[in-house]
Amino acid sequence: MTEPLIFERSVSGRRGYRLSPSDVPTCSITQLLPQDQRRTEVLPLPELSELDVVRHFTRISQLNFSVDTHCYPLGSCTMKYNPKLNDRVAAMPAFAWLHPFQPADQLQGILRLLYELEQLLCAITGMSAFTLQPAAGAQGELTGLKIIAAYHRRKRRRRSIILIPDSAHGTNPASAALAGFQVVQLKSGMDGLIDTQELRARLNSNVAALMLTNPNTLGLFERQIKSICALMHERDALVYMDGANMNALLGIARPGELGVDLLQLNLHKTFSTPHGGGGPGAGPVGVTRSLERFLPLPRVRRVGKRWVWTEHSEASIGRVHGFYGNIGVLIRAYIYIRTLGREGLSRAGCHAVVNANYLKKKLQDIFPVAFPQACMHEFVLSLKSLKAQGLTAWDVAKRLLDYGFYAPTVYFPLIVDEALMIEPTETESKETLDELAEALRKIACEAKEDPQLVSRAPHRMAVGRLDEVKAAREPDLRWNPASVPTAVAH
Ligand SMILES: *Cc1c(COP(=O)(O)O)cnc(C)c1O
Repeated sequence: MTEPLIFERSVSGRRGYRLSPSDVPTCSITQLLPQDQRRTEVLPLPELSELDVVRHFTRISQLNFSVDTHCYPLGSCTMKYNPKLNDRVAAMPAFAWLHPFQPADQLQGILRLLYELEQLLCAITGMSAFTLQPAAGAQGELTGLKIIAAYHRRKRRRRSIILIPDSAHGTNPASAALAGFQVVQLKSGMDGLIDTQELRARLNSNVAALMLTNPNTLGLFERQIKSICALMHERDALVYMDGANMNALLGIARPGELGVDLLQLNLHKTFSTPHGGGGPGAGPVGVTRSLERFLPLPRVRRVGKRWVWTEHSEASIGRVHGFYGNIGVLIRAYIYIRTLGREGLSRAGCHAVVNANYLKKKLQDIFPVAFPQACMHEFVLSLKSLKAQGLTAWDVAKRLLDYGFYAPTVYFPLIVDEALMIEPTETESKETLDELAEALRKIACEAKEDPQLVSRAPHRMAVGRLDEVKAAREPDLRWNPASVPTAVAH
């Protein structure tokens, strides 16, 4: 199925709606807008009927992969199914029609929800306080790094280095650089975990913090986390945990108890907001008691039976988002946590881990697993054996689309050759996991018997292989300027 651009469907003069004649006096645009603010050419909008528009966008939506239509095992992204109930609640007029400029006594319901969400996140992570402002995981990282800088500044010293393992998510070094730090990379050990020898060797009085992802991007739990934190604390350096992979730890481990000083959660991943394509998201940052005063303002406080904004704290790093963050995402997270409860959350975490290990077991005789030990919520396969047939992980990912699965993450983490990173999540059934394993088994056979079938995939999609870099940097949104009148009608 192909679909032309909406501009190509345009027919001059066609309309979705026509308004009845206006019964108020009209006046010329020249009286309303000064010359330099008036458009000199007609805006090139497509002209279509309502039905044309509905069909166009409905068709385009069907050309896409989504969690609602396909299993989406995209590693590190936690593309799990998000209960529709949460969307319903977030869209309720009582929430949707609120305005952030309303006085606090008219906002008691939402303030209470935000306050309680902070408490719930504290209970889940073992941290002392949260800010709900950051709008994404990466913005949470930046917020955390600003807090780290403020902590050392407060102690009247300059520390310029952030240590980051080579298994870290790409946003970690990017955020550290953006916050003005120098990044020093730690080479992982043979087991895919932080090598404490290497850590000791890199540690000096200029190190502000260690930034680690746990479970790391190989899907492995950092077993030495407690002693690693103790080692950092001996030097009064902090430990920042990228908590985007919290799905695996839900109800099982609390980072605050492991010695972590601050972390961000990705509510859009672990706590139920449909995401992708750049948003929406929320990356709340949790801190220990001693870092609480550095959190962004405003914060919600409880005074007796009322909830109020706190606008002042001398040590705060300031505001990181307009108003109080992406409220719709925060509401969804609150509803998700309250409907699952303590037991439900633990089960979600356990199922995420069981699903990943089940799938890993089914796949490991087809493609070798990069690190064979038991994994957490995701695992990484290496497809380097396909090089013999001239094939790559990229080819397999494209072929998987023909089998009706969204492709796993490819070429990440960087330390695994021809990486295929799979995160099934807890919401996929055993049957779906079996089908995914079967599809990969068939592709492995095709690779041997008919490598061209794989190297030329996908065969069943509306488009084949796209130049993704060009598409992002030089988008070609064709419309035919010749068909558009150039003179303004007024
Ligand atoms: C997704 C992810 C991020 C980035 O989160 P965004 O919300 O996309 O900014 C950071 N770290 C890890 C481990 C992630 O999986």
